[in-house]
Amino acid sequence: MVKYIFVTGGVMSGLGKGITAASIGRLLTDIGYKVIPIKVDPYLNIDAGTMNPFQHGEVYVLKDGTEVDLDLGHYERFIGVEVTGEHNVTTGKIYMSVLEKERKGEYLGSTVQIIPHITDEIKNWIRRVAEKSQAEICLVEIGGTVGDIESMSFLEAIRQMHNEEKDEDFALVHVTLVPLDSGGEQKTKPTQHSVKELRSIGLQPDVIVGRCKEKLLVSTKKKIALFCDVSVEAVVSAHDAREIYEVPLMFKEEKLDEYLIRKLKLKKRKESTTWTDMVKRLKSLEREVTIAVVGKYIHVKDAYISIREALKHGGIAAGCKVNMILIDSEELEKFGEFQLDVDGILVPGGFGSRGSEGKILAIKYARENDIPFLGICFGFQLAVVEFARNVLGLKNANSSELADTDYPVIDLLPEQKEIDKLGGTMRLGDIEITIKPNTIAWKLYGKEKILERHRHRYEVNPEFIPDFEKAGIVFSGYSDSGRRMEILELHDKRFFLGTQFHPEFKSKPYAPSPPFIGFVSAALEYAENRS
Ligand code: GLN
Repeated sequence: MVKYIFVTGGVMSGLGKGITAASIGRLLTDIGYKVIPIKVDPYLNIDAGTMNPFQHGEVYVLKDGTEVDLDLGHYERFIGVEVTGEHNVTTGKIYMSVLEKERKGEYLGSTVQIIPHITDEIKNWIRRVAEKSQAEICLVEIGGTVGDIESMSFLEAIRQMHNEEKDEDFALVHVTLVPLDSGGEQKTKPTQHSVKELRSIGLQPDVIVGRCKEKLLVSTKKKIALFCDVSVEAVVSAHDAREIYEVPLMFKEEKLDEYLIRKLKLKKRKESTTWTDMVKRLKSLEREVTIAVVGKYIHVKDAYISIREALKHGGIAAGCKVNMILIDSEELEKFGEFQLDVDGILVPGGFGSRGSEGKILAIKYARENDIPFLGICFGFQLAVVEFARNVLGLKNANSSELADTDYPVIDLLPEQKEIDKLGGTMRLGDIEITIKPNTIAWKLYGKEKILERHRHRYEVNPEFIPDFEKAGIVFSGYSDSGRRMEILELHDKRFFLGTQFHPEFKSKPYAPSPPFIGFVSAALEYAENRS
């Protein structure tokens, strides 16, 4: 039997519900359970693929190529599982599926309604995914805030599931805000109101997680317990943490794991210390490096969240804290020159010509001054463009995504142009890559075949590859029987590596991504040699 933990949010968005849910997942993983996450996004989009990073932050890519909300990234990093697109449920997907059934006549002429047809679809979806992934515990986070029109049908579905599941197979965790008033007093009224809102739709929380600047006082917890009809142990303090990876440990200190063990009748099958050990190491890091990340979405909080995390992971392996500074590629382009004292330069993924010349300036600076460099996807492609222009002397070489050029060193492959006159469909998700021996990539990955996630259309133009190789680019990883270049490196540099794929999506704090380990280690060595 699968046990379900639902996580809802109250008062306002942005409380860190995703981190809370992921942390609960980690705690239960550590005692030996198979925890599988599902994220419910109550918007009408089918998925996040078409959503603008300026509005939504990073688009996270799963192994099956589905483009999803960045919370799924937290789940994969915290829990250590890899999920598929089905684990991201949106209102769009639910309605689409119901409407398709309606057109096929599957409802046998009955009136199709939100209750029971939409709610049944939601329940079936959740149960199907939980069973298919052989979850012992299925953790379902409902996006948005209780009271939103959008999330109503999902909450109603949960209410029904509460009745249908055994008491020991169901827990509802409500994450809410406990603000401080001007006198610094912890206020419980917003929490009372949002629990009242939950109750009005027939849901009673089992656990209340209070997000507060400071640790919840016992008196605050007692008050919440009294007004919201839960026991004091079921009120958990989620005070501000400097480091998100500390949240599972904070919850452990609050004995949330023990409470859930009792509520869901679980057993402590084991006690893994992987996470605790990782946090200990992270907190003990003393040396520091500064990495410049050059991109155009720098004003959007969370636009480069997986990059930020992967750099942190690289630092855990290399033995240093990583300060990431964001450089606006459009400003850089206007300014016309990269001049910055940093230990490493990273150019992440991106689309379109805005700011691309700024990124090329940063790559040129890294190559000419031998600053450790990591280019990811667009960053990899622009490293090829920079090399073509400034080493091969191909004037105005470019990617055909960005400009008309005599030297389209990055281009769609002929077969892509055939398939889709509009510019090729995206190549998404896990693809196997072969790594060549005696290369940096080989040293980093330590094996010949790897799987990494992709999200791109354009490729290194095969016509130019012999010239690049003669001039010193080593294409150390390839896919598609050698048709597509996946990794490039320059061997006369401290560290200059580009990947057509996105290694950041598979990086975990306890299992950092190899390119990030190599990059941050090189940055650290460079920093120490200089000082
Ligand atoms: N715009 C480039 C392409 O489509 C790179 C994409 C990316 O960086 N994710 O190929």
